[in-house]
Parts: sequence; structure tokens; C-alpha cells
Amino acid sequence: MTEESTILIINAGSSTIKYALYKANDLSVLKRKTLEIQNKDEYEAAFQGILKLIDDNNVVGIGHRVVHGGRKYAEPQKIDAHVLSDLEDLTQLAPLHQPHNLKAVKLVLDKYPDLLQVACFDTAFHQGKPRLNQIFPIPRAMTDEGIIRYGFHGSSYEYIASVLPQYAGKTANGSVIVAHLGSGASLCAMKNRKSIATTMGVTALGGLMMSTRAGDIDPGVILYLMEQKGMSAEDVSEVLYKKSGLKGVSGLTGDMRDLEKSKAPEAAEAIDLFCLQAAKHIASLTVDIGGLDALVFTAGIGENSPAVRQKICEHLQHLGISVDNAKNKTNSSKIYTDDSTAQVYVIKTNEELMMAQHVETALQNKLSIAI
Ligand code: ADP
Repeated sequence: MTEESTILIINAGSSTIKYALYKANDLSVLKRKTLEIQNKDEYEAAFQGILKLIDDNNVVGIGHRVVHGGRKYAEPQKIDAHVLSDLEDLTQLAPLHQPHNLKAVKLVLDKYPDLLQVACFDTAFHQGKPRLNQIFPIPRAMTDEGIIRYGFHGSSYEYIASVLPQYAGKTANGSVIVAHLGSGASLCAMKNRKSIATTMGVTALGGLMMSTRAGDIDPGVILYLMEQKGMSAEDVSEVLYKKSGLKGVSGLTGDMRDLEKSKAPEAAEAIDLFCLQAAKHIASLTVDIGGLDALVFTAGIGENSPAVRQKICEHLQHLGISVDNAKNKTNSSKIYTDDSTAQVYVIKTNEELMMAQHVETALQNKLSIAI
């Protein structure tokens, strides 16, 4: 490694490729970009750009966001042919995300077979959850074949867990719930900064109401749509992933910022339902961690919407949670009142930096290779 060595983090999704370039020696960020992808040609162009970035910047290691690590991968993993084949086998558990993540891995592997590539899994942080928080009440054989609650947004939770002591001191190791409220949204309940329970399940569709995803609903709705309305699995998937959540309820958009600007009563109803659902899930997760010492808001909505934070916390007043409106309005990091039973924080997440740290560790050869 030299002064100029860099680490590249790639988050390749279906409609965007996000990347961030870091200096390898101090992990300061050099470049960060989101490329919108509408079609195959744009994907090709975007990827050629990334390969050129690798050529031009002395990249010594790449970290990829890989959504699913299944039951096997509880840690970031150096990618070789064997690991790649394992990850391809997991595609059926994350059909909308995993193929895009792995395509980026393969394109880099083709051109730079010797370059270190590390997979950072959304699921990994949740691996150690107690068994009762992993299994669904379905036939045991299905649980055994891997239909379990994996949980996602792991890099975000891991980052928040790593910086929380700077804000909350020893309380960081108590009963903590982190609310990652972005386009995708989930909660993670932690003790000793480890995941104990989370709202997403086998896919990133369950749990909280999201931008366009429904979150938890009566599973009978799915049967009704298929059996009575004659919808195909593909149609139902489109409804639950892309036409529900804030977008579905408002009939307008899944973008929280735009909904907050709207005067339409449907927009207000969508926001109200989003906040109520989030509060109910937060209250529910307090059961898993025996109370609540700190609540952390993060990601696009969590970091930037005082109104959403206020509404969610108002629903939690009976638990003694109280937010200082003036502090909340300015998005300050500490927003609770002195008499609040739980501390409440706003902390900016940094999934890419977390991944860059994992690549740095791998560069120092501390990372195991699955065999
Ligand atoms: P993702 O990374 O999953 O695309 P983000 O974490 O960037 O999502 O969050 C996107 C969401 O955050 C959008 O709904 C957006 O409207 C919302 N958001 C961003 N800034 C604000 C703001 N100032 N006020 C309200 N919502 C905001």
C-alpha cells in the first residue's frame, strides 16, 4: 500500500449504483456518487466508469454491499469463487437485490481477478439473535430450510452501534432501539450493541411501512389478491414492493419530503400511518430487550424529519419518552428532555464508511476465508 492507495465501496442496486472512494491510509472520503440506472446501456456505461475509476485511483480493495449472507456468513467475507457460488445460491432469498450486487462483483472479478473484494452483508449484524427472534411460527421443516427472520440494514446498525458510545456513554450498552428510516425502513433492538431483534424478515419487505413497501400486513391479503382477484405472484410482488407504503396510502409519492410539503389529506394520512406503525413496532421491540434506555433515529427520514420523529415519540409518551421540540426541530443529535425515561438521539448513518473499515481489516489480513 502507498500514500495514494484507495478503497472503493460499491452498492449496486436495481436502479442505482452508489459508490464511494476512500483514501486507504486514513479512510477520508475522496469521491462519492450515485448513478441512476434506467436501462442496460446506462448500466454498461456506469460500470465502465467504475472500472476506469479502479484503473485511475490505485484501488487496493473493494467492498460490496451484498444484501443476503444467509445463515452462513456472520462476518464480512473475502470473495473467491467458492464464496461467490454460495452467494449466488442465496439469490432466491433476495431476488430483487442479490443479482445486482453479485453482477458488480463478477464484472470486477473478470477484469481484476487478483484485486481484493469483500462482501459486506446486510444480514450479518443480525446473525446472533436469540432463536425465538429468528424463527417464524411456520412448520419446522420450512424453518430448517432457511425461512427465518434474517434482518437487513446491518451495515447501518453496525455503524450506529460503533459510534453510539460517543453520544450516549455507557447507556449505549443498555436497551437500545435504532430506527433506520429511509426509503427502506427497519428497526433493530440491541443489548450490549448487538442485535437482539429486528423488524425485517426473510426478505426486506416485512416490518415497518416504507416508501413503497407495505411492511407487515395480514398474510391473508396476499391469498385474497391471488385467489379472489386472480393476481399472479409477480403482480402481488409489484403491489407489495412498489405500490404500497407511503406511495400506496397517499396515492401520490413514496418520498417523505414531498409528502410533508403536500396539502392533500391523503399525504397526511400516509405520514400518520407511517409514524403509528413505527411507534407500534418500537413498543413491541421493547419486549425483546426489557425496556428502552435509548432510541436512535437514522437514515434519510430519521435524520431529517423533525415532524416524523415528533409524531413517533408522541405515540410513545406512555413509556415516558419525551422530546424537546426546539432541539428536535434543528435535527440536533440529542433531542430528549431531562425527564424523558429514554434518551433519544439523531445520528447520521454511514454504511459506506463501515464497509470501508471492513475492507481495511481485510487488507490487514485479519479476515477469514470460508472453505
Ligand atoms: P435510501 O438510501 O434507502 O434511498 P434514504 O436514507 O436516502 O433512502 O432516505 C430517503 C427518504 O428520506 C426519502 O423518503 C426522503 O424524502 C427522505 N428525506 C430526506 N430528506 C428529508 C427531509 N429534509 N425531510 C423529510 N424527509 C426527508
